[in-house]
Amino acid sequence: MKNKIKWLAAFIALSVVMVFTCVIFGALNGIEQEGAGAVAATGDDEPIAVVIDPGHGGEDGGCIGTDGTLEKELNLSVAIKVCDILNSCGINAALTRDSDTALYDLYGDLHDYTNVKKTYDLKNRVRFAKESDCKLFVSIHMNKFPQSSTEGLQVYYSPNDSDSITAALRIQEYVKNYIQPQNDREIKRGGSNIYVLHRSQMAAVLVECGFLSNSDELELLKTEDYQKKLALCIAAAISDSLANFQT
Ligand SMILES: [Zn+2]
Repeated sequence: MKNKIKWLAAFIALSVVMVFTCVIFGALNGIEQEGAGAVAATGDDEPIAVVIDPGHGGEDGGCIGTDGTLEKELNLSVAIKVCDILNSCGINAALTRDSDTALYDLYGDLHDYTNVKKTYDLKNRVRFAKESDCKLFVSIHMNKFPQSSTEGLQVYYSPNDSDSITAALRIQEYVKNYIQPQNDREIKRGGSNIYVLHRSQMAAVLVECGFLSNSDELELLKTEDYQKKLALCIAAAISDSLANFQT
């Protein structure tokens, strides 16, 4: 019961912050399953405000959970939910991919991508965001660490636009407040090893949603219920941060 009250309070708080015309529960009910999202946003002429990027895809599975779960699948599932919530609530959002596919040949630049698949895959995610002229790029990933006890969501931000810090702080904060009270992680500046943050010129963050090397967290991350909570927190934090962008 205590938990129910806590979540009810969280939903009310989030819906106030988001100032959306839609009913938040309607948005959640409207969330469809993996593969049902759309790369294009809502289809109107509104400019794309946010690009959501489910990491990896196709032959690149990303990291592998203790039970064989592939990161790319969880990334896609969470990313679709975030995108759907934003679109349902009037924030035009688009996905870099809405199915299990790699993006190296998204623009058909080369005839042969042998040995450059990973480079082009990452390059095209940044290009997609740049060409969409979005205000914020959000890449969704899952983490892995040798110590199985390590857990918790971690947000990295791009050093190229100061609004990245606003978005990263909000996401880290919302998740701590509503899902992971024990999470004391602080946002981290993305180094040159995080290509999509290093190369993006607009505000950009990368969300490591949790550790697939932690079997308890992995079990949670696999459930629809937890993914929805996570997506709601991320979407609310995005909305909140967009309203506070300086540029
Ligand atoms: Zn990843």
